Amino acid sequence: MQPRRFDISCADDIAAFDRDHLWHPYAALPSQPAPLVVESAQGARIRLADGRELVDGVSSWWTAIHGYRHPALMEAARAQMEDLAHVMFGGLTHKPAAELGALLLGILPEPLKAIFYCDSGSVAVEVAIKMAIQYWEARGRPERKRLITVRGGYHGDTFMAMSVCDPIDGMHARFRGAIPAQIFADAPRCRFGGSWDEADISSFESLAARHSDTIAAAILEPIVQAAGGMRFYHPRYLERVREVCDRCNILLILDEIATGFGRTGRLFACEHAGVAPDIMCVGKALTGGFIGMAAVIATREVADAISSAKDTPFMHGPTFMANPLACAVAAASVRLLLESPWRERVRRIEEILRTGLTPCASMPGVKEVRVLGDIGVVECERLVDRTKAIPFFAERGAWIRPFDNIIYLMPPYIIDEEDMNLLIDAVTAALREGAW
Ligand SMILES: *Cc1c(COP(=O)(O)O)cnc(C)c1O
Repeated sequence: MQPRRFDISCADDIAAFDRDHLWHPYAALPSQPAPLVVESAQGARIRLADGRELVDGVSSWWTAIHGYRHPALMEAARAQMEDLAHVMFGGLTHKPAAELGALLLGILPEPLKAIFYCDSGSVAVEVAIKMAIQYWEARGRPERKRLITVRGGYHGDTFMAMSVCDPIDGMHARFRGAIPAQIFADAPRCRFGGSWDEADISSFESLAARHSDTIAAAILEPIVQAAGGMRFYHPRYLERVREVCDRCNILLILDEIATGFGRTGRLFACEHAGVAPDIMCVGKALTGGFIGMAAVIATREVADAISSAKDTPFMHGPTFMANPLACAVAAASVRLLLESPWRERVRRIEEILRTGLTPCASMPGVKEVRVLGDIGVVECERLVDRTKAIPFFAERGAWIRPFDNIIYLMPPYIIDEEDMNLLIDAVTAALREGAW
C-alpha cells in the first residue's frame, strides 16, 4: 500500500491538518479558537507563521523561565546529542543523570536524597503516591493506601493524580466511578501576607486524625494552588500540615511542579514555610521549558523502607526514564538559574505586576487582583470566554491563556520592562473594553 499523502508546506496546510487531525489540551477536535501557527520563538517572544510576535505571558505553561532559545540550553542539548541522546536506564546509568541529581540535591530541602526521574508532572505525582503506598506496605501497614489533600488543588491528569484534584472543579464528575475516593479537607482560607487564623487548619487536622489509620500520605501544592485557581495561602497552613502529618504518622508529599525553581520568589515554595516534605515532585520549569521532564525526590527513610522490603522493589520504570538529553538540559537550566540574578528578576517582575495590575482591582467585573513573585492574577466575577479573550490578547501582541474566571501572567524571568508593560496593557484593555 502507498502511504497516504498530506501536503504540509505552508501555514494554511498546517492549520488545516491541525483542524482535522490534532488534539490539543482540554479541547474538542477541532480545537476552538483555532490554534495559532508558531514558527519559532526567541527570548520572551513567540513568532507566528504570519510574522506577528507575541510576548509569552505564561512561559509556555510556566516552563520557559529563561525564555526561548537560551544559548546555554541549546549548547547543552547539542553537546549531549553528540554523545548520547538516549539509552535505557534499566541497569545503565550516565553522567547527565548524576550531574542533574547532584545539582538538585544541592538546592532541595536537606532530607530529600533519593531521586526518581520521569517524563511528566502527572507521572511524577503517580510515582510519589506509589512511593507512599509502598512505604507503608514495607512497614507492615498495607491498609494505609488513601490520600488526604485540600480542596482547590490540581495535581495532573492521570487517574490517581485526578483523584486528588479539586473534587468539584476537577474532573471527578466526568469520570465518576473511575477515580479512587480520597479525603478532602477544606481549602486554606488564610491568605499569603494576611493574618493567620488557627481555625484554618481544623478541617485538615480533624480529618487526618480521624482517618490516619488508612492514610498513606497528604499531598499539597505548597503556598500556591495553581491550576486549581491561582490562590496563595498562608505559610503557617503548610507548617501546621507538617505538624499534623508528623503527629498522625502520615507522609507529606509536596507538589512543587508549578512553584519550583524560583516562581514564587523562593527557589521552592515550601521555603516560605520552612517545611520539608517526605516526598517532593518537580517538573514544569525543570528543563527551562526545553523538553518534558519531571522528578520525584524522597527522603532516605522513605527510600530505605521501600528498598528493605523482601522481593518488592519500587514498582515504576518509564521507558524514557532519565533521558540523557532531558537530564543534560535540566542540569544546564538549573545551573543557569543559580548563576543568574533570578531573585532580583523575580522581585522586579513582582513589583511591575503589583504596580500594573493593582488598578484592575477597581475595574468592573474584577473580583480581586493578587500577586506573588512571578505570578500576577486577575480573578474576574464571571467566566472568561477564551474564544474571545485569546484573539483579543493576540491582537495586542500578548500570548495570555485565561482559565475559568482567572487571567494570570507568569512570564519568563528574563522578560524586559517593555514586554511586561505590553502584557499588562493587554490585560487592562481587555477588562476596560469587556473583551468577552
Ligand atoms: C502542571 C502540574 C501537574 C501536571 O504536570 P504535567 O507535566 O502537565 O503532567 C501536576 N501538579 C501541578 C502542581 C501542576 O501545576
